[in-house]
Amino acid sequence: MTKTEPKTPRAWANMLVSAWGPRFPVDVRQIAYEYSKRFNDPVLKIVEADVSTFEGALYPLRKKGGWAILYNPSISSPGRINYTLGHEWGHYLCHRTAAPGGFECGATDVLGGTLDLEREADLFSSYLLMPLDDFRAQVGNQRMTLDLLRHCADRYGVSLTAAALKWTESTSRCAAVVVATNGYVNWFRRSAAAERAGLFFPPGMELPAASAAAMGDVLIAADGVDLPPGVWANRPAREVALFADKYEMTISLLVFEDLGFMPLDWIEEEVEDTFDRFVR
Ligand SMILES: [Zn+2]
Repeated sequence: MTKTEPKTPRAWANMLVSAWGPRFPVDVRQIAYEYSKRFNDPVLKIVEADVSTFEGALYPLRKKGGWAILYNPSISSPGRINYTLGHEWGHYLCHRTAAPGGFECGATDVLGGTLDLEREADLFSSYLLMPLDDFRAQVGNQRMTLDLLRHCADRYGVSLTAAALKWTESTSRCAAVVVATNGYVNWFRRSAAAERAGLFFPPGMELPAASAAAMGDVLIAADGVDLPPGVWANRPAREVALFADKYEMTISLLVFEDLGFMPLDWIEEEVEDTFDRFVR
């Protein structure tokens, strides 16, 4: 790595976005092929690999002296494939020297991963596909709804969940994304304002019985469902349910409008920290 190369996943993503210009969705394949030509171990292949053990992988091609990015074609949405490609391309840029054997990344590594290197690749993919300035320009001060999330997911070629996590990370509002399996919380991520308010949804917590996630599709509404205090965190909450289609998984976006919001310039300093503080 030369001295002029970016030092962090976010800096790498920002550099590539400014080099390629604001064209969305970002074409990860093209960038990976083109940009890696400057290295003596470029990305030579980006191909499907129909295996059940991972969503994406980065493998060294020892004979040819380059790398292959593999992705699982059974991933249901094109947005998730794009995010996975971004994740593996992040491993290539940031981690291949430290991990010459490459990476195999499962669904929880690609989105919601807790291991440091997985978290960094996730961060890279998020900033490459959804640059913060552009994301904020799309959303502005609008009320976050399923339609607005869909607009973002379409623009950036990512899943609704990836767009919801990006919003949670970048918003000045008090909000969280809660991911559960079979009725119990797996992990969550919260905005800086939610962290400041002490909102917490511990892994292993049972989904509140009156929550939209627990009630199933009865309560699906584009604008979300307004829930009284006592359902989520003893505060009135608006829950936008984003249901995944397998593994009995539910994903909810929670917005706590009564808790107000914090100035954006406070958040900038906390964004990197907040990334590291959600608990599995
Ligand atoms: Zn990974």
